[in-house]
This record gives sequence, structure tokens and C-alpha cells, in this order.
Amino acid sequence: MIEARNIQKTFGDLKVLKGVDLTIEKGEIVSVVGSSGAGKTTLLHILGTLEQPDKNKNTSLHINGTDILKLSSNQLSKFRNEQLGFIFQFHQLLPEFTAIENVCIPAFIKKTSKKTAEKRAQELLEYLQLGDRLHHKPGELSGGEQQRVAVARALMNSPEVIFADEPTGNLDTSTADNLHQLILSLREEFQQTFVIVTHNQELADLADRKLTMSDGRFLNE
Ligand code: ATP
Repeated sequence: MIEARNIQKTFGDLKVLKGVDLTIEKGEIVSVVGSSGAGKTTLLHILGTLEQPDKNKNTSLHINGTDILKLSSNQLSKFRNEQLGFIFQFHQLLPEFTAIENVCIPAFIKKTSKKTAEKRAQELLEYLQLGDRLHHKPGELSGGEQQRVAVARALMNSPEVIFADEPTGNLDTSTADNLHQLILSLREEFQQTFVIVTHNQELADLADRKLTMSDGRFLNE
């Protein structure tokens, strides 16, 4: 599913990733923990194709058989929109759009018809117990509800992998627990693969594998 070899990343004089190797199987939930500044988010962004690794001869990144480092920027945008999903701490919903409109965005980019997109968005929002919030704007929803809208949006195009960066960062304990259960049920139901960066111990522990990053490397990989 994901095969990353010798991932390095340098910002100016700062070498943030020092050669990370990682293999993730379909349906696996992998959490990445470690101290602040260790390079977790940088790695997530590279695996999620949002950032490029340093160019090295033996660096490679394959996701679901696609050689990511060989894609043009247009191919990369298409791949990202159609095969990857993202959930961030600050869920980045568009404030002027309703819940269902926000969820439809990845499908519209893919040029799915409005009718098909809205049907799927409604099904997803109902699955996430937001069937009575379809036409609310983010400002009219609680933090946990907004986060579930972001989860629905991430699922819209049935992505191969969901990358989550501190998905419970701004949620209270019981809402965070709900999100933990949701991640497990999505894996159960859809064989959904997750890569999750978190400081939340419970979330990290529900993963099949917990990887600890320190100073740009995994301690236990
Ligand atoms: P945290 O747990 O605090 O979120 P992290 O392990 O996710 O930390 P990263 O966000 O990956 O850490 O950052 C690793 C290092 O790279 C930090 O020192 C950060 O300041 C630096 N860094 C990250 N992005 C950039 C950038 N675009 N330009 C310059 N430096 C950066």
C-alpha cells in the first residue's frame, strides 16, 4: 500500500528527516508519535504528497503501486484528490459552505456529477450521525461535528489512505473517544488505511503499530 524508502527532508540548514523507511499494508492503522520537532508532520506531508522529499538516488515513494516521485504536478494533484484523504486538527472546512457542500468538494474536483456527489455526501454524513446537520455551516456546528464533517470529506472519494495530523487535537475527551471508535469502525467496514500523527496516547495506542520518531528517524522501525 505505502512503501517509502530513504525519505530525507532538509529545510535550509536543518535536516528534519534523516532517511526514513516505512511500509504500510492495506487496512493497517499506523500511529506516529514523538517529541515536538521530531519530524512527524513533515513525514506525514511527504507521504501524503503535499511536500516533496529531498532528491536522492535511492529515495522512493510508492502508494498503491503508483511511483509518486515520477508524477507531474497535475498528475499528483489528481492522485491526491482521488486516492488520499486528509484530516487535520484545524479541519479547514470552508466557512461559507454548508456541511454537505464541504463534503462534496473532493467529488466536484473529480468532476463527479452534482447528484451523485450529493447522494454520497448525504450517506456519509448520515453514517457519521450528521443527517440532521446537512445544511448547517461550520460556524453553526460544534467542534466534534465539524471534525466529523472533515472525516466525511476525507472519505468522499473512497481514498486508499487517510492521513490524519492531530485529528483529536481540539476535541474534548468524549468527542475524541468517538473519533477513535469511528476510525476503528471505518477500518472494520471499508478496510481503510490510516496514518495518524498524534500526541494523544489513547489514539496512538489504538493503532496496529505505533512508530516513535526521534530527531528525524524512527526508533522502532
Ligand atoms: P509537533 O509535534 O510539534 O507538531 P513534529 O514532529 O510534527 O512536531 P515537524 O512539524 O515535522 O515536527 O517539524 C520538524 C522541524 O522542521 C521543526 O524544527 C520545524 O520548525 C521544521 N520545519 C517544518 N516545516 C518547515 C518549513 N516549511 N520550513 C522550515 N522549517 C520547517
